[in-house]
Order: sequence, then C-alpha cells, then structure tokens
Amino acid sequence: MRRLPLTSVVAAASVLALAGCARVPSPLMPALRGSIGTPNSGVLLEGRELRRDAEGLRWLRDNDRHWAEPRFAQAIERAAAYVARERPGGRLTVGDLSTPTGGGPLPPHFSHRSGMDADLLFYATTLDGAPVDSPGFIHFGADGLARDEGHARFLRFDVDREWLLVRALLEDPEARVQWVFVSDVVHALLIEWALARGDSLDTIERADEVMRQPNPGGVHDDHIHVRTTCAPDEMVEGCEPTGPQRRWISYDVPRLDDRDEDLALSLAQPLAPSAPTAPAAVIARPLEAAHTNSRL
Ligand SMILES: [Zn+2]
Repeated sequence: MRRLPLTSVVAAASVLALAGCARVPSPLMPALRGSIGTPNSGVLLEGRELRRDAEGLRWLRDNDRHWAEPRFAQAIERAAAYVARERPGGRLTVGDLSTPTGGGPLPPHFSHRSGMDADLLFYATTLDGAPVDSPGFIHFGADGLARDEGHARFLRFDVDREWLLVRALLEDPEARVQWVFVSDVVHALLIEWALARGDSLDTIERADEVMRQPNPGGVHDDHIHVRTTCAPDEMVEGCEPTGPQRRWISYDVPRLDDRDEDLALSLAQPLAPSAPTAPAAVIARPLEAAHTNSRL
C-alpha cells in the first residue's frame, strides 16, 4: 500500500475526528457494502433481488431468499434471458440465493450467507422434448431422467438449455463463476454435450474446472449451485475471497489515483446516509456445520 505523508494522515484524521463518524468511505476507512465476509459466515448489505419477472426465469418459491451481490444477480438474469432467446419456451427455475441482509443460518444450506451463492434448478422437458418448468428438486440419474412424483411422470434433463446457461455464466466476466456444484453425472452429460456441439474448448475447460460434486453438501443431482467470487472492488468493501482463483477471472486491484489532497477532501465530505453496519458477531461467526442434511 502507498504510504501517505504523515502530515496528510494527521490532517485527514483531524477532519475525521471533527466529522465524528468512522463510516466515511475512503481508502483508510472503506465502507462495508455488498457481500461481507465469506459465503459460510458472512452477511449482505445493499444487495439486489433477482427479479421474479425477469425474462426467462421464475422463482421456485415466493420468499425473501433471492438476494445477491448486485452484479451476480444481474449476471443470472442475463444468462436466463440468453437461454430464453436461444431456446424459447423454457424457463430457469431459481431456488435460494440469500436473504436481504444475508447471514444465517439459512437451513438447509451451509452457505448462501453473503450473496455469492445461487441454487438454479435444472431445465427439464417432457419425454417428448417439450420444455416444462421444473416442479422442484427432482433427482436426475445417469439416464437423464427424473421422476416427477407430483405429476406422476418422468421428466428429461434438458442438457441443451442447461449447457447454454452454464456457458453463458462462464463467458460473462461479471458473473465471476468460481464453482458450479453439481453431480458427477450431470457434469459428464454437460461436458459431452458441449464437445458434441463443438463449442469453444476454452469454455469447456472452464466448465470442467468449476463443476464439482461436493462432499459433504449433497450430490446436487437436482440443481446447480453457482458460487461467484469477489471482485477486487468488492474486497475493498468487505468481501472475503475463499477457494481457488480461476485463470480466466481478473483479480487485479484497480489503481488508486487519489492524491493526498483528494483523500483529505473526501474525508471532509458531508456524510452519506450510512448503511447499516454489519454486526461484527455475525461476520466473525465461524462456520456452523450443524445441519447434517444441508445443501451447500
Ligand atoms: Zn446451494
């Protein structure tokens, strides 16, 4: 980090003391915003709700669990809209993201606390190939079929739309997909489909790298769990990166061009309405692994 001349620091600190508030955004005192902490023990401030009427998607349940880091929610909407335009008739069914404030526990999930996780149910068709809304968490086997008990029928895994969704997310720089938790069987089906289509080998390699059947955390033969990773500006605002870095995702921190005078002036600005402070106890809470039957 660039060192500031002592006089500037003293001047800035004096202004800050006069302002009487420790929540002025600055390189010295970054405001907490967006995804705070980690997916397993974080919270969400100023998230964005995935639109329930967005093109090409629907909520599985009418609840308050559709909030996320704003760029992530938008990336999911973009991907669903893309699939709907490429293959009209099918809709993405969206399970849980995070609550408006994040945090937890959020049974049955281990994570989903910081707006970085989304459960997206599989696209499905009838046996004749007609697209249908997913009836819920139904389990698809290696034959690509699942029993839909509610309608006393079998449905087919819609590998075509599902691959288009995964591909759209992987190729969207704003999505910053770190993981797609999914069963080994569906992983194999998607990779084989992508190869058969002759899609970009780079994208297929990305898909192969991020898809993983978690253990523990459920087989994920009924949905994909997409995990995004912090962007550099989000890290400044409290997002705590976990897990591997991906070679195609940029982690470069934007250069700070602030002059010392600008810094002192920014500290003297009138205070914006302050966002709710993330409860320290929530941020510091360790992973609670009490749910034996949890999804990720
Ligand atoms: Zn999940």
